[in-house]
Amino acid sequence: MSELKNIKGIGPKTEKKLNDIGIRTTNDLLFCFPERYETYDLDAFESICLDKELSLPVIVTKKPKVFFIRKNLDKMSMEVEINHLYFQVHIFNRRFLAQALEPDTEIVITGRFVNNLSNFTASNIVLRKNFHPGIVPEYGIKDINDATIRKAIHEVLSTKRELHEPLPEKYLNKRHIPNINDLIVKIHEPKLESDIFEVRRRIVYEELLDFALRIESLKRLNSNIVSVSRRYDINLVRDFISKLPFELTDDQKQATNEIFKDLKKDRQMNRLLQGDVGSGKTIVSVIASLAVVTSGAQVAIMAPTLVLAKQHFDTFKKYLDGYGVKTVLLVSEMSNADQETVRYQISHNKADIIIGTHSLIQSSVDFHNLGFLLIDEQHRFGVNQRKELRKKGVTPDILLMSATPIPRTLAISIYKDIDISFIREKPSGRKDIITEIVEFENLDSLLKKVTLEIDNGHQAYFICPMISESDTSQKISVEETERILRNKLKDKYVIDVLHGKLADDEKNLILDRFYSGLTQILISTTVVEVGVDVKNATVMVIMNANAFGLAQLHQLRGRIGRDEHQSYCYLIVDDILDAKERLDILVKTNDGFLISEYDLSIRGPGEVFGNVQSGIPNFRMANLINDQEILQEALEDATEIIKANDTLSKALTNKAIKSIDSYNLD
Ligand code: ADP
Ligand code: MG
Repeated sequence: MSELKNIKGIGPKTEKKLNDIGIRTTNDLLFCFPERYETYDLDAFESICLDKELSLPVIVTKKPKVFFIRKNLDKMSMEVEINHLYFQVHIFNRRFLAQALEPDTEIVITGRFVNNLSNFTASNIVLRKNFHPGIVPEYGIKDINDATIRKAIHEVLSTKRELHEPLPEKYLNKRHIPNINDLIVKIHEPKLESDIFEVRRRIVYEELLDFALRIESLKRLNSNIVSVSRRYDINLVRDFISKLPFELTDDQKQATNEIFKDLKKDRQMNRLLQGDVGSGKTIVSVIASLAVVTSGAQVAIMAPTLVLAKQHFDTFKKYLDGYGVKTVLLVSEMSNADQETVRYQISHNKADIIIGTHSLIQSSVDFHNLGFLLIDEQHRFGVNQRKELRKKGVTPDILLMSATPIPRTLAISIYKDIDISFIREKPSGRKDIITEIVEFENLDSLLKKVTLEIDNGHQAYFICPMISESDTSQKISVEETERILRNKLKDKYVIDVLHGKLADDEKNLILDRFYSGLTQILISTTVVEVGVDVKNATVMVIMNANAFGLAQLHQLRGRIGRDEHQSYCYLIVDDILDAKERLDILVKTNDGFLISEYDLSIRGPGEVFGNVQSGIPNFRMANLINDQEILQEALEDATEIIKANDTLSKALTNKAIKSIDSYNLD
């Protein structure tokens, strides 16, 4: 590996800049991949149309005119011709070219026809003789121009080099993937579009194979943990279900059956229950908990927030008190004496169901006989509960619940050793939420609709992306929204403000007021995202909707439409043109699975779920949704590689296992 300064064209200054971003050797330079490629190709006259980017060879017919618009902004316009089509070309800040553009000069213009075929807005103009068709990599390195990098890399490529091939040759051949030496040439000097395709395929495969090896190794570590086969009282459970005020949906029935099968097995249950907000996961977990209690074991329930923990506490008590089940709450907000009492109950088998936040498992709670652990909104926990429990020598059956649905194919590949139950169908009688995108400019007419609902006895949420105003952000805060609403609505309505910076008792007071129906408008940050369940709230207005992820918007929207009332969600944006493409899916569907799939395909799981929680690495190029086929191949190959158990397989697997801790997949 030789040093950068040996390369012609790289002086001390450029060398320093490259060093600063971690490029020290010629090898580093070879592995500095382009950010994107620009393809230069002439378009045929026949392909001319509006609004499409085109590169056209044209002839200048009239000398350019230059207009000065304001400081640092000038526009040059000229007439050109191609196949007897005459039109005007406009380009900004290129007046220095005017001299060279005499009539009859042959040039290539790149840009698009806007509005009509007489006006072409160009982003680039070059002389025909200087136009070279081909694919040009763009590296986007700060302060170093691409030409310098390209030349330096070309120079390195033309010398002999030995690159270590990390992938087994067998799989390169099987999957038609270029080897490392071909890759390096194709990546920096692609000749054809298919070269770029191959490059991408190899990088994605390499990333996903590493990911797959990790998943497969974990699966081996975790599968087949022995646990107790639980003997629950099926008659009591049946009696409980028959007395519910509603009939379970088919999906709820199926999920319940799947869980019961797991409970009976003498292996540790490890199941994920997925269902949209409001799909009725909670009652399924109540039924499962009751069964476990009748088998003589204890149940622990972990919720992501205090609010949710309390809510589960109320729900479980409501359903199960009549069945002689003792449900207790254990959270750090309780007095020490109360916590002591509850701890005593837990360790002396005087509590059957213990509900708390995630500290429940980490703290020194001494369970008498923990048989079932229920984790709500599992994606919000960063910790490895399973591992932690195993360290304590406890292997309860585990049920994870998530309202951020992951498409089946993705879920299966992420949670290899986790079984999954889906609740797709919503309880009947539920109406879809009507969702609309509204420009901020039209707030007044929107408020008329909102107050109409309130006048009919309903309540409304206004959700904002931040608490206070800042000088640097265009986003609307809770404070500003409060000012706007108080100003526009005068004192006609009871308005409250909720956000995470308030003290807990204040938060509870505000929530209580909203639950009781006293508050008509609750202005809040996303703290209401999970758990708050006010059936009478039928309107949600989300300010700066573009500042939120799609899955998150859908979660937020799940706070309304919680019974038979028609509910409305308004997504407020500054510029509808700008926002429509992304947000339209929320207008079109209420199906959380479709929304999350769409979200995942445009953003990738890391961004959707947050990197640490999701256990999904930040891939350089791979996208678990769009690259599902390659993922499937990688999973197959990983299984084979681990099975082979030869030197190469061991090296690959060890590398993958070493990184398990940092990926939190357990
Ligand atoms: P999730 O936990 O999936 O967000 P919940 O369990 O809180 O959903 O259910 C939302 C509401 O629907 C609750 O008020 C619950 O009582 C009600 N519900 C649940 N299952 C049914 C059903 N099968 N029929 C009618 N209502 C139901
Ligand atoms: Mg829930």
